[in-house]
Amino acid sequence: MAPYVLPDLDYDYGQLEPVIIGDINELHHSKHHAAYVKGTNDTLEKIAAARDAGDFSSIVGLETTLAFNLAGHTLHNQWWRNLSPDGGDKPTGELAAAIDEHFGSFDGLRAQLNAVSGTIQGSGWGVLAWDPIGSRLITQQLKDHHSNLSIATTPLLVFDTWEHAYYLQYKNVKTDYIDRLWNIVNWADVTARFDEARAGVNGLRPPAPQG
Ligand code: MN
Repeated sequence: MAPYVLPDLDYDYGQLEPVIIGDINELHHSKHHAAYVKGTNDTLEKIAAARDAGDFSSIVGLETTLAFNLAGHTLHNQWWRNLSPDGGDKPTGELAAAIDEHFGSFDGLRAQLNAVSGTIQGSGWGVLAWDPIGSRLITQQLKDHHSNLSIATTPLLVFDTWEHAYYLQYKNVKTDYIDRLWNIVNWADVTARFDEARAGVNGLRPPAPQG
């Protein structure tokens, strides 16, 4: 089985400036995201070794480490594609209508997701998600990468609020960072995820071409 790999980005590290400086994106992709990829591959090897040895005494810790790293990899795959140098503005069409239905207005969503993202205690993510059980949009507040999650939902738009995502540039003013993210949201990508999720497709779209 092929190991997990770090995807290439669709843009250069500096192209999300001035919202996110290139130094942050370079560290975030080449160090942080890369560490989640390595952590996933290493943990799967350790689980295989435990299975081969017939000794699952370490499986609880390994499963926790796998969940942390694989969810981190999955979320960062989406993070890079949820953003674009050509992003910003607002969604249109059925996604815009669904946002109006479930949040009152685009401004309602924006205020709610800003609050969700800005109040996480510790590291985590603010998420706009599709819930197939209720056939509706909801927001979610993920702790770390994988806690406080409703299992059936599909993330459509994810805001990384780990300190590594903003601290070099915004220092302790996390709310400014979160509010400016809206200027680089790739609504074409979010809309594609929305359409797939509503169609019952696994909305976790495959990562960008890998290299
Ligand atoms: Mn991150």
